[in-house]
Amino acid sequence: MWSVLFFLTLIKIENISYFKLGNFIRLSIEVSQKSDFNFSAEKNAVKMMFKEPLILGKNNYAHKKKAIPFRMIVKGNEMIFIFEENFSVARYFVLPFPYKIIIDVSFNTSDIEDILTEREKKRRPKIVLDAGHGGKDPGTTHFNIREKDITLSFVKELADIIRKDGKFELILTRDRDEFLKLEERSGIANSVECDVFISLHVNYTKKPMVRGFEIFYFSKKFSKYALRVAEKENGVKLKEDDIVLFELFSSYKQENSRKLADFLKESLKDVGEVNRVEGAPFYVLAGTFCPSVLIELGFISNHEDRRKLISKSFRKTVAEKIYEGIKSFITYQLSYQNSYL
Ligand SMILES: [Zn+2]
Repeated sequence: MWSVLFFLTLIKIENISYFKLGNFIRLSIEVSQKSDFNFSAEKNAVKMMFKEPLILGKNNYAHKKKAIPFRMIVKGNEMIFIFEENFSVARYFVLPFPYKIIIDVSFNTSDIEDILTEREKKRRPKIVLDAGHGGKDPGTTHFNIREKDITLSFVKELADIIRKDGKFELILTRDRDEFLKLEERSGIANSVECDVFISLHVNYTKKPMVRGFEIFYFSKKFSKYALRVAEKENGVKLKEDDIVLFELFSSYKQENSRKLADFLKESLKDVGEVNRVEGAPFYVLAGTFCPSVLIELGFISNHEDRRKLISKSFRKTVAEKIYEGIKSFITYQLSYQNSYL
């Protein structure tokens, strides 16, 4: 007697989490493996059609009793999210380790007063500053100096300067010692519709003589060196296959991120050597819709850089230079697109 066995691959939905910030919801769907899917979004529904059938894992929001601002339907190869109201925009990207589909949905408010206030706010471009690491993640540490403290001190310095100037709206991903996932950081940037996103970090190498600034933007093309830095900041080793998974929203964003990095290099080189401006697959930059860069402020492994990184006067000068770079970039965009103000 012949028996035929079919090995059908199932995609298990391991976990679904979300966060809501004002008129913005970010969904994070962790699935058991990579899979192609078609994404469509209309009115208040986001639909994903996979090649393989889906099954729900145990650790799923559907099993928890709490108010959730959307409904989820999983049927055959299809996964649908229905929101309480129509959205103005819905976008997605994917992240490896573990494989996650991230969906960002923004809603327009129907209240005319809110719309007017929103327009008022829109006159000022929004800068989102991200102090790398925090909480249980100290980042790189050397001689009891922790990256998470240095990045926060630089962000606070820069925030003071931006607030005093009053030209831009400012949003910080964290203003204290707290842990945030990398995807939460870019989620915050998208939730406020950022115009510029800057993530600050501190570098480390085994070569104690190496020092200076390094500036990175998101790219799927990169040098070996830039990949090493990205792996250090991502906290995982990346395989060639996984890098392909990163979705770039548009070449427009990449081009502008590179431009932003160039402006920052121009202003920062007055205070120190800028070793490189390069692209690499950084998680924290992968999900933002606005021009985004990551600045390595110096090497904690170098004596001179370490001394500077904890000095108030250096912090102040660097913050001023970063702000100068951001302003030049925004001015350039203004003259180029005439889209702000
Ligand atoms: Zn870092």
